[in-house]
Amino acid sequence: MDHFVYKDSELYAEGVPLSRIAREVGTPVYVYGSAAFEGHLLAFDAAFSRVPHLVCYSVKVASNLALLAKVAKLSLGADIVSGGELFRALTAGIPASKIVYSGVGKTAAEMAEALDAGILAFNVESAPELDLLSQIAKDRGRQAPVAFRVNPDVDPGTHPYVATGLKESKFGVPVEEAFALYLRAKDDPNVNPMGMDCHIGSQLTSVTPFADALSRLKALLARLREAGLAISHLDLGGGLGIRYDQETPPSPAEYAQTIVEGLAGEPVTLILEPGRVVAGNAGVLVVSVLYDKLTPERRFLVTDGAMNDLIRPSLYGSHHSIVPVAQTSAEPVKVNVVGPVCESGDFLAKDRLLPPVPAGGLLAVKSAGAYGFTMSSNYNARPRAAEVLVEGDAYRVVRARETRQDLIRGETP
Ligand SMILES: *Cc1c(COP(=O)(O)O)cnc(C)c1O
Repeated sequence: MDHFVYKDSELYAEGVPLSRIAREVGTPVYVYGSAAFEGHLLAFDAAFSRVPHLVCYSVKVASNLALLAKVAKLSLGADIVSGGELFRALTAGIPASKIVYSGVGKTAAEMAEALDAGILAFNVESAPELDLLSQIAKDRGRQAPVAFRVNPDVDPGTHPYVATGLKESKFGVPVEEAFALYLRAKDDPNVNPMGMDCHIGSQLTSVTPFADALSRLKALLARLREAGLAISHLDLGGGLGIRYDQETPPSPAEYAQTIVEGLAGEPVTLILEPGRVVAGNAGVLVVSVLYDKLTPERRFLVTDGAMNDLIRPSLYGSHHSIVPVAQTSAEPVKVNVVGPVCESGDFLAKDRLLPPVPAGGLLAVKSAGAYGFTMSSNYNARPRAAEVLVEGDAYRVVRARETRQDLIRGETP
């Protein structure tokens, strides 16, 4: 269900007109819908209700404390990929016992921080990482809970930058190496090999790669059981796709059914790390049109939002639906929607049919809740956008727009 809909020709986020937020907070601004965010989390969690499971929301996707506090309120967990994300998750009230930590480059300091906090599991991605984690656990008189991130070598059929479970990828360890690492960890008193993990990619629009990965992991689980290793947690990562344009991704219910069937009674607690499917369609980026610029070749709508605010179109060639905040019946024209950044790669949409929007008019870039604000930067000395959370008929600024002073913080002439 879309929570950003027109009422009386005005685009709303739940009960609040986006034009009001733009007027009062300024643009560019990220606007999240609380009902959409929570609704997606609850639907995903409910889809797995038949089996023991824990939903660990992927923090990197949209990490504002107000969103993470929703995750905490629903008693769900977090998937983190850095010490900074650990700090965010804990600050928002997500208990360490529900936090899993993925990533190929955890530093010693980050490991120590996560060990001391008492996280649920380290998703270990290499032999040298296991060695370092073991050493740090020993130094701190702790035992590190470990899941090896297995690279099952399946093609997720997604953009190459977000495919993570192919054998040429930097992520995880191949099945055979994982088997050897489990045996090593079994004999190491400083680590507890309690889990198995994989995350094969993002924006998957078919259940088949998930089913293939699961069957490879199950085969490994069986071998480990024979070798005397009881794995209690199976983490299948995130990756479920959403509709940006014409995609038809499986619903959380279909996805869950495939996984629960594939598990076939395997005595493990499932961990899921959804991100995009939770936040993607729960957020929009609202921008103002600065100029309607005609060149001999093209028509450009130059907006105050740019690639530093939303990099997905530039980085992945991603499609985001863009709609005028004030609905109009004017004939659409073909435009490129671009920002002020000094790069020809700075665009939000190319060759898009949009009704003419005058300077000062507002556009909503839809499906911008995932990998939107979190991937934003200060390129071209542009302050990062404000973030707003709508709850019913009310909204609040949950991250202030950056100021000039923020831009030079910590710098010395
Ligand atoms: C990014 C990431 C996720 C979330 O992926 P989505 O496609 O947004 O669901 C989950 N787990 C890990 C390890 C990740 O890196």
